[in-house]
Amino acid sequence: MDFSLPEVTAGIGGVLTATKAVVSAVKDLKSPPKALLAAISTLETEALDLKQTVLDLKTEALKLGEENLSLRRENSELREQVRAHERRALEGEQYHLKIVGQATVVVKDDNQDIHYCSACWAKSRVAIPLQALPRPMIRMGTHYCPNCKANIHIHS
Ligand SMILES: [Zn+2]
Repeated sequence: MDFSLPEVTAGIGGVLTATKAVVSAVKDLKSPPKALLAAISTLETEALDLKQTVLDLKTEALKLGEENLSLRRENSELREQVRAHERRALEGEQYHLKIVGQATVVVKDDNQDIHYCSACWAKSRVAIPLQALPRPMIRMGTHYCPNCKANIHIHS
């Protein structure tokens, strides 16, 4: 838009005031020509149409403002998601897969004693420490992932 809404509103206000002045002046004439009466009637109608157009524009501008706010919010959320993803990717460089017993687990470079779930790591790049099953069973495994509930057999 190359004009501002307040400018347009002020312009329309001026046109309406001028129109009312003309209407009033013409009606004060003792016997105004019919053509002049018709012309000012048209002028009145046009002025009212313009007023309605401005009201519609105001409503539209309000809607666009709300939409803009919502898009800004969404954009900021998406930026935060990208940053979180980048942080996880950076952190991911500190982890690697390791075969322990019969299982493939994820370990951190600086502490290989803690085993993380390789399924959760592969799926969403989250490091979930594996928990020991209270009573290890040969068929069920020795550990489980509290996130994806997978059973893992680490000790052979
Ligand atoms: Zn898991």
